[in-house]
Amino acid sequence: MQIETDVAVIGGGLVGISVAYGLAQRRVDNVVLDEGDAAIRASRGNFGLVWVQGKGLALPAYTGWAMRAVEQWPELAERLRSETGIDVGLTQRGGLYLSRTPEAFAQRAQDLAAVKSRFHGNYDFDMLDNEAIRKRVPEIGPDVVGGSYSRYDGQANPLRLLHALHRGYLLRGGRVLSGGGVTDIDQRGDKFVLTTARGQVIANRVVLAAGLGNAGLGHMLGVTIPVKPIRGQILVTERVPPIFDIAIEQVRQTEDGTLLIGGSWEDVGFDLGTTFDVTRRIADDALHFFPFLKNVRIIRSWSALRIISPDAAPIYEEIVPGAFLVTCHSGVSLAAIHANETSGWVEQGGIPEEMAGFDQRRFIASRF
Ligand SMILES: Cc1cc2nc3c(=O)[nH]c(=O)nc-3n(C[C@H](O)[C@H](O)[C@H](O)COP(=O)(O)OP(=O)(O)OC[C@H]3O[C@@H](n4cnc5c(N)ncnc54)[C@H](O)[C@@H]3O)c2cc1C
Repeated sequence: MQIETDVAVIGGGLVGISVAYGLAQRRVDNVVLDEGDAAIRASRGNFGLVWVQGKGLALPAYTGWAMRAVEQWPELAERLRSETGIDVGLTQRGGLYLSRTPEAFAQRAQDLAAVKSRFHGNYDFDMLDNEAIRKRVPEIGPDVVGGSYSRYDGQANPLRLLHALHRGYLLRGGRVLSGGGVTDIDQRGDKFVLTTARGQVIANRVVLAAGLGNAGLGHMLGVTIPVKPIRGQILVTERVPPIFDIAIEQVRQTEDGTLLIGGSWEDVGFDLGTTFDVTRRIADDALHFFPFLKNVRIIRSWSALRIISPDAAPIYEEIVPGAFLVTCHSGVSLAAIHANETSGWVEQGGIPEEMAGFDQRRFIASRF
């Protein structure tokens, strides 16, 4: 089989499908190539936060990008609902990040103050002590030092988001080649010839949106792409009545009533296991934050691999003419802006100058 298309989007996770959906909306002919169900996918194992606070500490330009991204989320959620009938469960009632120790609380305050000081525009956050949190979240544990609150934050159902973007993409005439893992990319003249298990794809432009697979795709084009896996383990409880009306980074209630408890940050390569010591530590933190959890049963745990660049911020770069690298840690939070704006760069054939800070030149002086 041979397919010719304008744009080949490599990767059908949240990042690839967001860009492909945006391209389809712009009526740019494109095909999504995905490895299929056996692939390692962050998009199926994440926490579902639509989040701004903390973003931009290492890369100041990321703060404004994340703010714009969450502002665009309600319109995306509504569009997906009307086009596909899928409610992606977006709520944006603010978000809380809890600190376990006074040192962690002080560090958080310092970090967010640094983010705010470098941001040109309004950037509100509040450092709340236990009493202030209790007014908003009465279940908070008595020994919790405090936490940071941001009105920009929220949450969504990431699996429904992935499903809705795929369905919306297909409804707009998009094509997904599942089981179409790319094993070779050859540049012939101004075309890219991609070899996949399902045949050849010839494209004018390619989008590298394959998560951790981007490192291998980069090699095919002679470019090093510094992304590595960082494991996160998550616990999930039985369903309980509605408790939290805001998103909390450590314990998030889904619209089904389950509580997601997370998460770890582990540099263990591609190991997708769960471990007793880490899940016990996560559960211990959660009990400290919310003592009522001692009466709630854990029903499941899982792990997933984050896609992390050296500063954990996104990388956007045209790595060779016509080949666009799009990778990030926060594919849920950035879904709307990837659909709305990143797709436009691919359509227009260039990344705007104001996004130059997101390319890999920023890592030249850093060690990974
Ligand atoms: C524990 C955890 C919690 C998280 N929490 C949040 C959160 O609260 N909020 C948030 O915004 N983000 C969160 N994230 C991050 C978010 O899940 C990711 O940013 C997002 O899923 C990345 O999507 P992706 O499409 O880049 O990668 P993936 O979902 O990994 O998808 C990559 C796709 O590329 C395909 N692929 C790989 N190689 C090839 C190849 N050679 N050819 C063809 N296809 C290929 C695979 O089949 C796969 O489908 C979390 C991640 C983890 C692990």
